[in-house]
Amino acid sequence: MIHRVKPCARGLHCVDPERDAQGNSVPRFTQTPFCTKDTQQISQVLTEAHGLWQQLSAALPKGSRRLGEHVSGSKAPPIPIRLEVLTQMELLKTLVEDHAALVRGHTLPNRRMEVVVVQDSEYLRVHLSSLLAKQYGVVAGLSLLDWRSTARRLLGLNRYVEKRKAPCPQCDAMALMRKDGEENSICKVCGIVITQSEYQRWVLWITNDLDK
Ligand SMILES: [Zn+2]
Ligand SMILES: [Zn+2]
Repeated sequence: MIHRVKPCARGLHCVDPERDAQGNSVPRFTQTPFCTKDTQQISQVLTEAHGLWQQLSAALPKGSRRLGEHVSGSKAPPIPIRLEVLTQMELLKTLVEDHAALVRGHTLPNRRMEVVVVQDSEYLRVHLSSLLAKQYGVVAGLSLLDWRSTARRLLGLNRYVEKRKAPCPQCDAMALMRKDGEENSICKVCGIVITQSEYQRWVLWITNDLDK
């Protein structure tokens, strides 16, 4: 099926932006709902999903993995955090279970939560192009990306290691950040994503400009 060429559904958060005629950074144009790199990101979320789910589960104090239970002892995370962790675990289960059922055409009954997470994440990873091509595919993809980002935040894995020294090329705010292990910088104010080579060219351009 030939799709019309449209901007990547990740919008300003597209990890592989391109430049328009005016030199502004815009989401990559693509025939699929998400550009190739963002499709890979979603596939990666599905690959990592069970591991992150297990880490969330391990972050809960032992013997208190159910809502409403009392926890004693100083090692327990504060209750609002615990609720967030549990909510996040439930959310993944619902996300992958509902979407796998839609793609598969039927539900699979009587499975433990972790089994659903393992089986349905893998099912969706294998059938990712079918999922994304559906009417609800874009929402599903964005929800999975959001899920990983929140899970990583709860686990303390989303560290901003580097605040970049140059202002944002789009909004001028001193808010460009680069996350652990990532090539791209993102502006925390306007959300623009720029690649490492674009950042270097931008720095070169402003320093040349200052020298004049
Ligand atoms: Zn993209
Ligand atoms: Zn900005």
